[in-house]
Amino acid sequence: MRPEILNPLFAEVEALKGIGPGVAKTLAQLGLTRAIDLAYHLPTGTIERIRASVATREMLGRTIILDVTPFDSRLSAGRGPARIFAADCDGNTITLTFFNNPSWAKKQLPQGEKRTVSGKLEAYGDEWQIIHPEVMESGAEPPLSEAVYSLTQGLTNRRMRELALIAVERAPDLSEWIEPSLLAREGWRAWRSSLAEAHSDPLAGDARKRLAYDEVFANQLALMLIRRHARRRRGVPLAGDGRLTKALQLPYQLTGAQARVTQEIRGDMAQAAPMLRLLQGDVGSGKTLVALLAMLEAVEAGAQAAFLAPTEILARQHVATLQRQLDVIGVRVAILTGRDKGRARDAVLMGLADGSIDILVGTHAIFQEKVTYKKLGLVVIDEQHRFGVSQRLLLAEKAAHPPHLLVMTATPIPRTLTLTQFGEMDVSRLDEMPPGRTPVETRVISNEKLSEVVEGLGRHIASGGQAYWVCPLVEESEKSDSAAAEQRAEVLALRFGADKVGLVHGRMKGAEKDDVMAAFAAGRLAVLIATTVIEVGVDVPNSTLIVIEGAERFGLAQLHQLRGRVGRGTAASMCLLIRGQQLSETGRARLALMRETNDGFRIAEEDLRLRGPGEILGTKQSGEQAFRIATPEMVTEFVPIATADARLLLDRDGGLASERGRAARTALYLFERDQAISLIRSG
Ligand code: ADP
Ligand code: MG
Repeated sequence: MRPEILNPLFAEVEALKGIGPGVAKTLAQLGLTRAIDLAYHLPTGTIERIRASVATREMLGRTIILDVTPFDSRLSAGRGPARIFAADCDGNTITLTFFNNPSWAKKQLPQGEKRTVSGKLEAYGDEWQIIHPEVMESGAEPPLSEAVYSLTQGLTNRRMRELALIAVERAPDLSEWIEPSLLAREGWRAWRSSLAEAHSDPLAGDARKRLAYDEVFANQLALMLIRRHARRRRGVPLAGDGRLTKALQLPYQLTGAQARVTQEIRGDMAQAAPMLRLLQGDVGSGKTLVALLAMLEAVEAGAQAAFLAPTEILARQHVATLQRQLDVIGVRVAILTGRDKGRARDAVLMGLADGSIDILVGTHAIFQEKVTYKKLGLVVIDEQHRFGVSQRLLLAEKAAHPPHLLVMTATPIPRTLTLTQFGEMDVSRLDEMPPGRTPVETRVISNEKLSEVVEGLGRHIASGGQAYWVCPLVEESEKSDSAAAEQRAEVLALRFGADKVGLVHGRMKGAEKDDVMAAFAAGRLAVLIATTVIEVGVDVPNSTLIVIEGAERFGLAQLHQLRGRVGRGTAASMCLLIRGQQLSETGRARLALMRETNDGFRIAEEDLRLRGPGEILGTKQSGEQAFRIATPEMVTEFVPIATADARLLLDRDGGLASERGRAARTALYLFERDQAISLIRSG
């Protein structure tokens, strides 16, 4: 239960003085639904104004406060802008332009009456103008320096600030959870004062830093609680006898890294404490085989294994590969996704319950629903980044004897992020590629040369090659992505023949997607046009060319993933990054980095620096909460300290019962990491 002292902060915004349903709706658009959200909606900076008596050239580009008297106006017909001409006290004309609500503007600025306005003075041809000036009531004067908040339509900065401060008012004094020596060293103030200061003086960074530290600390403490809890639980030790793994016919030898990691996993699974292991390995490093060996280990020991894939397509691809390898050695594999219904589904559920199915492959459906296993011993999660901490926690909580857990990711995650996202897990790395791979050659090409790219694609196809063509993310909307892909598919189909060109996008039905993918994998299609649906895991070794349109709009880690679709066979592969013509310095640098290196870890570090953690982890998709206050730099700075501090606290006070321990619990609630609280060791 949340400590009562926090209740005022967790009330809906409508409970706050002066906030009705209308404002609440507006705030909800910013994701601000409770007082706490408002209180933590910190200013992004400040605006500085100069008080002017007359407008001068020197003031162009600055935000000024000026007294003016309107003398004329021009209203466009209909809903067009209003231009109001006003004079300062020296008679210089300033045009005040309003795009929205022109009649309101005219009422605010009656002719012949002096008013104080504030806004950015700009040159517009020979005229000087202020667009959307603030208009003061007579006698009122805006502050010279003001905190600036991110806003949405229908909310002024001033109002936002008022609302935030009302919420801050509600914040109680809280006992300190930060280690006293750290607090002293950083010179940080108490939580409540810091919160108030972050609003009143946004440029003084200390207050904000303290709040960010709190957030990182709460996150690390939660993970540490999960880890300790999991280590205490009794799972089932699983030790295989090697009969299945030996029978498995592999056309190749394990890489050194695969052999090493397999040993680490065996070691974990032989223990009663359930395994919690993260396996990181770049695209193509051979994680699937490691997972297969682990699953066979479980089956040899008389248990079942579940393999969770991120998408339907991948689940089907995995099940097909597994069946080919496992049928001959008598291991029974089945699939379960949201799409499997009726009899087939019932048969699978029955097989799981009576133990006649050894390995289940599926999507989230395998955990969301009432699936009972006879003896689930191992869960493998592939491409974890759509599967967050809270979901992993749920999984561990469900079974009487928690299964061993292996989480696999192809996104090379920078160390800091590994700690914030997977702090509860042990980490293995597949840092070696299977032999015989030729590195993918990457080129950056301007979209002016698209027709040459299409020519090149033609030659590639003529010589028997296959290719991916990835279409850009148009907006945040799947609909427009799909439309762009459809258009591209039409163009390429005209050029190469409709029977050679396939299309997959997010708005297609699962079965349709599968059919197209299957046709491509079987070599019946030469070109596969896709939105990022193909991002993870798809394996078609004969496809040695990938064209990525609008490359500058993708995250680097994402580009790296996409590029990993080629270079899977022994033939030389190529990745063409098509860029728009308007490219920023950073944009250029990012694409150049892709050309230079195939090192996923280097790329991920860079992406973290440039775009923040949400992009890398795909937390947006999973709904997993990211950090709301701590910036990537702050996370990087604080994670080592916060992790050590959380560990120390739990070593001394595992039940979080001391005064500081209880304060730390409050911090968990404050940052909504409180799922972990149920895991605190009692007594
Ligand atoms: P990822 O780590 O991206 O999931 P996969 O498991 O899909 O990689 O493996 C990529 C390709 O490498 C597959 O075609 C797989 O058969 C092949 N492969 C895996 N391990 C080896 C190995 N030890 N030697 C040669 N090829 C391998
Ligand atoms: Mg894979």
